[in-house]
Amino acid sequence: MAGVLFTSSAWGNLGLNIGDDADSVLNRRRDLQRSLSLSSLIYMEQTHSNVVSIVEEDVEIVKADAIVTSHKNVGLAVLVGDCVPILIRSSHAVAAVHAGRKGMMNGIVKETVMAMRTYPGDNFEAIMGPSICSDCYEVSPEMYGEVTAGFPNSATTIQKHALDMHSELAEQLTAEGVEVLNLGICTHEYPEYYSHRRSQKSGTPEGRQVGVIWL
Ligand SMILES: [Zn+2]
Repeated sequence: MAGVLFTSSAWGNLGLNIGDDADSVLNRRRDLQRSLSLSSLIYMEQTHSNVVSIVEEDVEIVKADAIVTSHKNVGLAVLVGDCVPILIRSSHAVAAVHAGRKGMMNGIVKETVMAMRTYPGDNFEAIMGPSICSDCYEVSPEMYGEVTAGFPNSATTIQKHALDMHSELAEQLTAEGVEVLNLGICTHEYPEYYSHRRSQKSGTPEGRQVGVIWL
């Protein structure tokens, strides 16, 4: 049966190459797959690109920032620790998207929906999971000026110079005919979620959580 899930830190760190023991991470990934009764669970090697991978065969990892499949019972995972995990479904395909500031700027959302439209199907819906909110995502005034000049929906105030990724991403999804739900959970404010920025401030390593979607 189709579904979505966003993990919290209660599931443990699911990201490789961030200082955690690889075997422990792989065990947690297997536990997650088992608990969702998925035939496979595909992860991405994410690089803030706008590369979309359409997966029609059995693979464990793809080098991309969005994955699309039409296969039933195959889970697609996006790793995040402040970036926006976006899970999209239509009647015939699903997608997991890694959308941080760079993804917001390089059009990964549009690329993903275009890839999904190579399948038949309509009723596109997206859900934006736990990620850093527009109160917490302060950037330098220079970066704020540069990003909001190109993407005015991401603007908050000059004084605060924080970026609102959710408004801009929601706008991009809506422009592609996708209905959007934002869970509105801030990773930086809630210790139940891993936050890359909080980790940088505190000097304490944190992990990565995932958003998972399957048909
Ligand atoms: Zn916040």
